[in-house]
Amino acid sequence: MLIDNHNRRINYLRLAVTDRCNLRCNYCMPSEGINFAKKEKLLSIEELYKTAEVLVDMGIDKIRITGGEPFVRKDLMILLRKLSSLPKLNDISITTNATLIGPHIKELKELSITNVNVSMDAINKKTFERITRRNQFEIVQENLIRLISEDFNVRVNFIVLDKQNEEDIIPILSLQKQYPSVVRFLEEMPFNGGSKHFNTIKWNYKKIYEHIKETYPDITKLNSPTTSTSINYKIKGHKGSFGIIPSFSRTFCGSCNRLRITALGDVISCLYGPPKTNIRELVRNGNSDKEVQNVIAEVIGSRAPTGFDAQKEHTDVFENSMTSIGG
Ligand code: SAM
Repeated sequence: MLIDNHNRRINYLRLAVTDRCNLRCNYCMPSEGINFAKKEKLLSIEELYKTAEVLVDMGIDKIRITGGEPFVRKDLMILLRKLSSLPKLNDISITTNATLIGPHIKELKELSITNVNVSMDAINKKTFERITRRNQFEIVQENLIRLISEDFNVRVNFIVLDKQNEEDIIPILSLQKQYPSVVRFLEEMPFNGGSKHFNTIKWNYKKIYEHIKETYPDITKLNSPTTSTSINYKIKGHKGSFGIIPSFSRTFCGSCNRLRITALGDVISCLYGPPKTNIRELVRNGNSDKEVQNVIAEVIGSRAPTGFDAQKEHTDVFENSMTSIGG
């Protein structure tokens, strides 16, 4: 079992497989993109698998595959097939923008990889295209409905963006009204590749909740696992549920069970903090599992207590993009 220096059990790895994305969401990166890594700097499928295997051996039992957009990586399914054969790995989940998942839905189901988070920040086509700077609305909508109809556990992630998509907050709830799915509203975080700086947000979790309550007064709070980052609710008569994630307010750090490894091999012990080390060369040069595990154990043994403390560890300007961290 992996326990950090604040007595939190770490069992959840967010593994980014690329820093590239086929969308250009304006809250994530500038329109020209970021300085994407050269291919040789990215972990290969073998290296990603090795990393996962070593960490599962240490006590990780849930891995979320993220990016960039994971499905821009043509060899992604090879990794997923290999991961699904790891006996001690209980849960493989994916976070995707759902533009490219269509051809893989059948095989994902065969592999029992059915927990899929779909990022969709608008239900209005024009708003979606303005935010993502790409014309992919129809395919996202089609794949989302396909995933739900094929009984995947779908959670839609919607970042509430001031003056951009507030008008879609209530309409997007129609997804969980009609289907047994989950819509989760996230506070915007300052990981946009330097395109804007802010120290406060208008749409915090309280305001998002109050806004929803105005339209749907009959809301019940649901019990959630202690490690859940979302506060979850049910609206009377709706088939699914909704959640709110205080990702900027950071009210959930006390039960954080996560470790992040980026596509370049950076090990991140808190989303808000800088990378603690890089394991690419260790994994690439065939070092023993034990050596990799020692490095990981050291990172886990020195985690900041909260995201606010972790943020203070940055020595240079804080201009990360979520496409390199993986969310
Ligand atoms: N491409 C995939 C996707 O769209 O879900 C996975 C990677 S994306 C970086 C992971 C998550 O981070 C998405 O849900 C995205 O909306 C979220 N995200 C990106 N930038 C963010 C920001 N500045 N604040 C809050 N969430 C952000």
